[in-house]
Amino acid sequence: MAIYTCLDMIRDCRANRPEGWSYLVTTYVPVIRRLLAHYYANRWADAELIHRVLKALRNPQSPLFAAPGAGTEREFVAMLRQEVLRLVEADQPSGKAEVDLDLETLSSALEPFTVTEKQLVWFESMAYNAEATALLMNLEVSTVQKARDRAEEALRGALDRWRRGLMGDNGLALGRLALAGRTADCLSSKAYLEIIDGRITWARKKDYDFHVVRCWHCVDFFCRIRESDFALRQTRPLTAEEARPLCELLGLPAEKKSLWQRVLGG
Ligand SMILES: [Zn+2]
Repeated sequence: MAIYTCLDMIRDCRANRPEGWSYLVTTYVPVIRRLLAHYYANRWADAELIHRVLKALRNPQSPLFAAPGAGTEREFVAMLRQEVLRLVEADQPSGKAEVDLDLETLSSALEPFTVTEKQLVWFESMAYNAEATALLMNLEVSTVQKARDRAEEALRGALDRWRRGLMGDNGLALGRLALAGRTADCLSSKAYLEIIDGRITWARKKDYDFHVVRCWHCVDFFCRIRESDFALRQTRPLTAEEARPLCELLGLPAEKKSLWQRVLGG
């Protein structure tokens, strides 16, 4: 029996077939919960939030399923993160930062930073502290902290109004700007994955770095793929019992067998 994958799910959700939506619930609700706990810990008491997000996600016209769409599971989860954040903000917008920071100011302040250092700083806009960022980047905490301290000093020098933690305060706005800032020179999804997986020659990496060091869109995408990798490693699919109430909520027929029983042909 062929194994049902994320790409089968995307095709089925696009066609509004129940198999696709059931797989989405079983496999990606744990990822969505993880994202909500990370980005919206302050709304965790709102138990219905995930229900509203799921109902809104169950839309074949969602940008999540638009063609050409994700070519790999990691890309899909990086897109899922964007869509979940967008839906939560549509549900109830977060407050604005007291001191604004835009990408132009950030670029000029962090001009001497390397591609890696820029990712260490960018993860702060995604609400990852130095310890979590060290895990995501497979580096020492002290390396992360050093890059962030330098970034704070550089921003303090570049801004008339400054306070510590501007990357985090402006995280949502910076993420939106970076997403909208795609250029003709931006890397293909295949290139991002090759770099992250270390399947690339030194010479080609140098060419890519030449672009990425100037491009927050690409820095953001790199960080989101790393976040997706991590989220997928840290979560396991729901059991049939756990998935059932959520499938009912979405009006889906109940799964008779768990995902693992299906995969194993049990
Ligand atoms: Zn780019």
